[in-house]
Amino acid sequence: NRAYIGFATLPEQVHRKSVKRGFDFTLMVVGESGLGKSTLVNALFLSDLYRDRRVPDVAERVRRTTSIERKVMDIEERGVKLRLTIVDTPGFGDALNCEESWLACCAYVDEQFRQYFTDESGLNRRNIQDNRVHCCLYFIPPYGHGLRQLDLEFMRRLHRKVNLVPVIAKADTLTAAEVRRLKERVLSDLEEAQIQIYQFPECDSDEDEEFKQQDRELKACVPFAVVGASTVLDVGGRAVRGRSYPWGVVEVENPTHCDFARLRTMLVSTHMQDLKDVTQDVHYENFRAQCLSQMSL
Ligand code: GDP
Ligand code: MG
Repeated sequence: NRAYIGFATLPEQVHRKSVKRGFDFTLMVVGESGLGKSTLVNALFLSDLYRDRRVPDVAERVRRTTSIERKVMDIEERGVKLRLTIVDTPGFGDALNCEESWLACCAYVDEQFRQYFTDESGLNRRNIQDNRVHCCLYFIPPYGHGLRQLDLEFMRRLHRKVNLVPVIAKADTLTAAEVRRLKERVLSDLEEAQIQIYQFPECDSDEDEEFKQQDRELKACVPFAVVGASTVLDVGGRAVRGRSYPWGVVEVENPTHCDFARLRTMLVSTHMQDLKDVTQDVHYENFRAQCLSQMSL
């Protein structure tokens, strides 16, 4: 159902306590500028959230990002509260300020860990606001033949700190065959460079066949080929978010056109809790261990 984002299905995955308190979830987007990062997060969350409220037009809100911007939304769906934070970054223009960009992104991630660490050692440990980055989408340009040196360099700085989810930007500019080829190439480039992207957990063997099939399809999508758009078009009487071409409309939310819908379901519904768990158990633990070893020096 388009009116719902889908996180209300989360209670099945977690304790009732956290359902009552609500969820904190932070998504960061990084990559070269102009690849559609701001457009995508708007399409993923903001426009849907603002559907019934009076806010500026979506197109108006997508403007050039010039600094790290944090947007926080408190949303509630069927009694489940979610505090969603989107960290939009300016990205980089060329190899020169690529370093500047990953330095800023890493500093942001570390700062949230540090804050959490401080809060955790404080007196009010029960009500910590969790602003840690739970997932980071890395935007890969569609026009190359795989990952560039600077993409690898960027991801190398981040992969031990956050759950890195690579996406192929502007997939509407590629044919289906080109998307397939680029996906394969990206995966092999990542493997060769030993970059650890977010791994979906193994599917429980007692899940039903339909669930297992969905899980297989989701895993086969990586890196997600996405299309973003800020306009809603009329397609045969249906209002769809999409991009218009002389030969037709590429529908953002149509799973046969791109992986946008699967990515959103993964983020806010099926894998939100796992992304949070891995952040806590792996990335934050690494950070904590480093802090503790530095303190004991
Ligand atoms: P950012 O710098 O990565 O945040 O990129 P923006 O979201 O500002 O988008 C840059 C330009 O690309 C804008 O003109 C968008 O309309 C366009 N754009 C965004 N997403 C897509 C997409 O999926 N496909 C195509 N073809 N263009 C896109
Ligand atoms: Mg932007």
